[in-house]
Amino acid sequence: MLIEIERGRNQTLQQIRDLAARFGNRIEILEGTGVFDTMHVIGDTRGFRDREDYVRSLPGVRAFFHAASGYANIARTIRGKDGVAQRRDRRVVEVPGLDGKVRRIGGGKHIFFVGPDSPQTLPQTLAIAKMAREIGERFGILDRLILRGGAFKPRTRPNDWRGLGMKGIAMLDAAREESGIPYATEIMDHNRVDEIGAHADMLQIGTRNAQNFDLLESVGRLGKPVILKRGFGNEIEEWFYAAEYVANQGNLNIALCERGMKTLFTKGGYCRNQPDLNAITFARKQTILPVIFDPSHVSGDYRIVPENLMASVAHLVDGTITETLHDEAFRQEQLCDAAQALTMESYAVLVEAVLTYEEKVQPLMRRAIGE
Ligand code: PEP
Ligand code: MN
Repeated sequence: MLIEIERGRNQTLQQIRDLAARFGNRIEILEGTGVFDTMHVIGDTRGFRDREDYVRSLPGVRAFFHAASGYANIARTIRGKDGVAQRRDRRVVEVPGLDGKVRRIGGGKHIFFVGPDSPQTLPQTLAIAKMAREIGERFGILDRLILRGGAFKPRTRPNDWRGLGMKGIAMLDAAREESGIPYATEIMDHNRVDEIGAHADMLQIGTRNAQNFDLLESVGRLGKPVILKRGFGNEIEEWFYAAEYVANQGNLNIALCERGMKTLFTKGGYCRNQPDLNAITFARKQTILPVIFDPSHVSGDYRIVPENLMASVAHLVDGTITETLHDEAFRQEQLCDAAQALTMESYAVLVEAVLTYEEKVQPLMRRAIGE
């Protein structure tokens, strides 16, 4: 645990020392170059950590950082009972398909999540699945494709279209049946986890529910693979804690998904959400979970989806989620996220770009960063 504190706050320093002593923790002071120093609280810090609010209230305390033990189930480095740090291997989240192929997220090859923002009509949903299958066959990546579409839509404005619900799930079921490709779909209500989980191959928790703790725990109990989007205003560790809620219930089949944040700059209109690409790298280093990226929701405009997608590939992401249209003419019919949907033709070009990058450039990237 690290605490940043203004230099010269001797009384605060003493109060923190006393608190640490009470729980048998040791303190080390790391002198900063500016006006702040960092106190490192060492040992079994659970008792100390529970007094975080008190410590934050002391004069001169600027920040309080938790060690990875707050999310021990998913942390890459854990401290065992004997106090020795262990670096764990990253996990692979497996999603089997009716076609007998298992999609391995985090298995070293890019996983392509693709589909409409939401299933709206059966022909639309089946057409996208068919085109995805063709792309899978053309590039030999059927075992790397997962369909995705939201039948239950969290909408900011209550009068906007909110998805077809179970009718949409039936369309996704049909798309899976015809294509053999598994699908992921969003869940919003913790009371419906069993009902929807009986259909879907993978569940998505959206950015607006990223800290809905009942939902996180219900999905954790179900045990099916889950995409956990980062809350659009969440600090990176809040995202890890959200994952820990799922993991605490015994479900480690989690793919973390960066999807951009609301910032001062998104008001300018040049992107919908500000992508935090460094979060991909950090999450890969700090946790054992695969990390995917959603270029569609960071863009909000199909014309800037390709560069965002490729940027995440350069950050060694384990997969991407891209929203698509089966036919450009459908854009005017689409009731949610119409502006950011790529046509499946453009998507096929991007798939080729990812595969080319993976083959030609990624080995060099891995060498450059010492992986
Ligand atoms: C979506 O995936 O369609 C969606 C609503 O995403 P987010 O939760 O990231 O906004
Ligand atoms: Mn969407």
